[in-house]
Amino acid sequence: MHITFVCTGNTCRSPMAEAIARRSLALSGRHGVTVGSAGVAAFGGSPASEGARTVAAEVGLELSGHLSTLLTEEIVAASDLVLCMGAGHLARSLELGGDDRCHLLAEAAGESGDVPDPFGGSHDTYRATLAELQRLVEAALAADWVAEARAAPRERPAVFALLGDPVAHSLSPAIQNAVFVADRRSAIYHARRVSGEQCGPVLRSLALAGGGGNVTSPHKARAVGFLDRSTEAVAATGACNVFWSADGEVWGDNTDVEAFGSVWGDLAPATDGNPEVLVLGAGGAARAVVHFLLTSTEAARVCIWNRGAERAATLVSHFGDPRLAQVARRRAGNPSVVVNATSVGTRGSSSPVDLEALPRPPLAVIDLVYRRGPTPLCRQADRLGIPSRDGRGMLLRQAEASYSRWFGEPPPEGAMARAAE
Ligand code: NAP
Repeated sequence: MHITFVCTGNTCRSPMAEAIARRSLALSGRHGVTVGSAGVAAFGGSPASEGARTVAAEVGLELSGHLSTLLTEEIVAASDLVLCMGAGHLARSLELGGDDRCHLLAEAAGESGDVPDPFGGSHDTYRATLAELQRLVEAALAADWVAEARAAPRERPAVFALLGDPVAHSLSPAIQNAVFVADRRSAIYHARRVSGEQCGPVLRSLALAGGGGNVTSPHKARAVGFLDRSTEAVAATGACNVFWSADGEVWGDNTDVEAFGSVWGDLAPATDGNPEVLVLGAGGAARAVVHFLLTSTEAARVCIWNRGAERAATLVSHFGDPRLAQVARRRAGNPSVVVNATSVGTRGSSSPVDLEALPRPPLAVIDLVYRRGPTPLCRQADRLGIPSRDGRGMLLRQAEASYSRWFGEPPPEGAMARAAE
């Protein structure tokens, strides 16, 4: 059973109520109940207010690790009970799909009225709010109907989403939903177009509601700032493409790194063993490619070309590796492998580079772009007899890796490939 406490900014009342409930449940040995909190107008990722942190600490409650979360339909859907501080919060929870699971906290405790907002008030104001919350939360948790809901929690699907802009072209929903069905998972995956401002709050709310998802262009770097914990691949690339939650903390990883590595491994026999690699692009995907090349291959030189020179320079200085160099022209150097990490080729007939204009034909080509049919770059590689891979294989590998992060085990073999056909 999952209970979500709701207020406005998720920095005062609802985090205090969450902390009170968590301690009360632990002390009373009531297992099988998890608690969370969210705000109807929260800016995701803000800490609890100073007043809330101070007065909570006075009674031994720890709020220093709290980061605010926006209330979304996913959080409402994942909750068995939504307990609101005021009538406005209740109205918003109902709008987001809540039903008879949504209540005023005071009413759930057998009382009535709103819990006033202490925001901006003195520490004494916060102490009064904390005392009121302690009384109401204890009474609500002890109510008979809460015990009944605990005994028979409703089964709700976990919600996963691809966050980016654009997302309509993505194969991820088809791939993941097919596997959820094949694997009898109670879960759904959808593509959600979000702005930069929306990305972090939505990411956190999806994860804390028991789901997770992926991040795509242009939000992979921004997403990093909304994680509580991240892997070495995120730290090295400064980009996150998959997120989930564990023990109430939001985790992120960058599975583009291992997915690219897998495609590289397929083509490695075609390269000359000590290759010079030309990487086109300097966005989130290029960072994953460069990190893999510098840490897991014998690449002697990695050249970066990007349309915007400043972004390429930032990437080169981020890694600070003498094998990495920015080039002003795509035809510079003598690459044995060409990697396209720009979005050119997603639509239309443009190719990111003319392979015939390079000083010599490369030995292998990897295009991160995928589309229905071959990409323009892979079509030219085929015509020239150069082994190539488009982005479909990498997409599948990162989708498999994402699934493993969410569920702790790999997807059924071949299910994703069949779904992508
Ligand atoms: P991103 O961070 O938004 O970066 C986009 C890159 O494309 C930048 O280098 C950008 O150059 C370049 N670009 C965009 N339009 C261009 C144009 N008209 N001419 C030249 N360069 C252009 O995106 P990302 O996450 O790195 O992803 C890049 C591509 O890789 C996307 O198409 C994405 O779908 C694909 N990808 C595929 C997989 C997979 O699993 N197959 C995984 C990751 C990414 P500027 O900096 O100059 O704008």
